[in-house]
Amino acid sequence: MNYEIVIGLEVHAQLKTQSKIFCSCSTEFGKPANENTCPVCLGMPGVLPVLNKKALQLAIRTCLATNCHIVPMNRFARKNYFYPDLPKGYQISQFELPLGVDGSVNIAPNGTKKKIGLTRIHMEEDAGKLIHGGNLGSLDKSYVDFNRTGVPLVEIVSEPDLRSAEEAREYLTQLKSILDYAEVSDCNMEEGSLRCDANVSIRPQGQREFGTRTETKNLNSFRFVQRAIEYEVDRQIKVIEQGDSIAQETRLYDSDKGVTFSMRSKEEAHDYRYFPEPDLVPIEISDEWIKETINELPELPEQKRERFIQTYKIPEYDANVLTTSREIADYYEKSVSLYPKAKVVSNWIMGELLRELKKDGQRISKSPIRPEDLIGLLKLIEKGTLSAKMAKTVFEEMYQSSKSAEEIVNKKGLAQITDSSAIESLVDEVLQLNTDQVKQYRNGKEKVFGFLVGQVMKKAKGQADPAQVNKLLKDRIS
Ligand SMILES: [Zn+2]
Repeated sequence: MNYEIVIGLEVHAQLKTQSKIFCSCSTEFGKPANENTCPVCLGMPGVLPVLNKKALQLAIRTCLATNCHIVPMNRFARKNYFYPDLPKGYQISQFELPLGVDGSVNIAPNGTKKKIGLTRIHMEEDAGKLIHGGNLGSLDKSYVDFNRTGVPLVEIVSEPDLRSAEEAREYLTQLKSILDYAEVSDCNMEEGSLRCDANVSIRPQGQREFGTRTETKNLNSFRFVQRAIEYEVDRQIKVIEQGDSIAQETRLYDSDKGVTFSMRSKEEAHDYRYFPEPDLVPIEISDEWIKETINELPELPEQKRERFIQTYKIPEYDANVLTTSREIADYYEKSVSLYPKAKVVSNWIMGELLRELKKDGQRISKSPIRPEDLIGLLKLIEKGTLSAKMAKTVFEEMYQSSKSAEEIVNKKGLAQITDSSAIESLVDEVLQLNTDQVKQYRNGKEKVFGFLVGQVMKKAKGQADPAQVNKLLKDRIS
């Protein structure tokens, strides 16, 4: 039996605000436990929430950047549940009237464009964090840190339009890049500012109705999302082929073991007894505000990709890589403005630079080689001072030392030998030392020529221009 995989993702993104969504506590990451708290975010009796306008503004921006319609009159709702990391006993979220609906994100796995629908985007507050035993003290105790309670989030809910783990990963990549470009979230997955829940089900190929789905919660890396989905699909197929049925449940992913496991049976919306939040007025968003936000929206990844292909005449593949993040795109544009050979610049950034940065886990904005340094290197290649091979060595040294290419070339005497009389004398030397090979060549064994070129290059310590060596050698030997 062939199965079709059906995936919908719920992504929680932390909005980039200084303060929390309903109080003025700081959202700064890494503070001592419970330092960023006040009676409001600790859920003390009698306190009242006040909506942070900046959070709303960023949430509207998120909706518009993902082609959502803004619901002109939306409102907050209470989602009631009891858990030690939720001091109020309810979470302020949105339910029947979310901020945005009917959006979309385009993905292009294997080059074919596919539109992934967004059901809704709503605002909500984050919960706190439980730390069980371990470093904090007693192994049999649990500790709670409320620094995260009340941190503003948007939840972005996709339609069940994704059909493979790769598509899910591609969707997340595109979504993250949109949030980054729109400057609504720093998308830092290690710090928990981007998390994903994956709804996965399977159905026999051709069947219309969906299978029973499971939800795997709190996946905090793209790789884990992909692996958790792959595992979940295999598991569900096995269950069905054994004649059993899938339980609708919430699962967790164990990244060490690479498996998902059941956490609890899945709640339905009515389990949360949602009702409109009585402490906050409904939110009315004017057309002017929407128009203003649209005008402020920076160029988004898809538009930038198109423009890069048009303006710089680079292949689509290059444009995709170079627009993965705003930082990479800015770096590229700065470089091309200094040196117009757009494809050459692209090759160096995609190849050498991104590879080195990836090795270090470093962002391009922290690159030890700045655009002007990279261009300095490319100009030395163009002038013939450096061969392509030497340039790579110089590049590595630039990366390690943050020195300019010229400085390194001068200090190490690395410049390529382009003076033809200097090369001629090396050629003569080689011809004298290898009279047998010269004879063989003259007798028609042309392969020997490559050997002789190699000998000259060796004598020049790799610093001669190979084209020039070829030409001079041919002149001499023929
Ligand atoms: Zn607070």
